[in-house]
Amino acid sequence: MNRILIVEDERDIADLIGFNLSRAGYEVIKAYDGIEGTEVALRERPDLIVLDLMLPGRDGYSVFRELRRDARTVNIPVIMLTARAQTEDRIQGLEAGADDYLTKPFSPKELMLRVQAILKRTDSSPGHVDFTYGPFRFDKNSLKFYLNNEPAELTATEFKLLLFLCERPGKPQDRNDLLRTVWGYSDATHSRTLDTHMKRLRQKLGTDGSWVETVRGIGYCVAKADE
Ligand code: CA
Repeated sequence: MNRILIVEDERDIADLIGFNLSRAGYEVIKAYDGIEGTEVALRERPDLIVLDLMLPGRDGYSVFRELRRDARTVNIPVIMLTARAQTEDRIQGLEAGADDYLTKPFSPKELMLRVQAILKRTDSSPGHVDFTYGPFRFDKNSLKFYLNNEPAELTATEFKLLLFLCERPGKPQDRNDLLRTVWGYSDATHSRTLDTHMKRLRQKLGTDGSWVETVRGIGYCVAKADE
């Protein structure tokens, strides 16, 4: 059973989200401020965190940064909740490396779709455990990633994105297909999500970031390796 931590000081929202997640079969843990949220995340290591940005004690960004710095929580996917129309918040959240975000008010159904899409893409896929392409090696079971045989940190989303492209080398992947595959939905407003993740991914790959090519008018492509 997947465990989900909700960090949200507005109890009616936390309860509503919690109720819907429990009903969908998830185990729910709640924290009502940033300090408690950080502690619980580090201690419990949930499978996913729903993190509100406006929190007493310690704001959501600060919680998020700490969790991403700590080896125990670095790979836990995070969905950020932002206040309505605060576009800046949203962009900052994605640039900080959140896996997804929702703008309040949102419907429980919308949240559920995001949660399911993220957990589906972080689920281990038994069978073909290791996949190697060029300088990249993916351990699909543990979601560990190696760059030139050195362990490197990728978020679950970045892992999935790069793996998807590497499994289709030399074939440009359409933006909408990437959004649908990795995020579970696609529409124009999420274009920015894709680009932000790609930018961050390339930075993490350093000089090997050049393997990931932008294909104008289509999307992205991983270069074909020399035979
Ligand atoms: Ca709040």
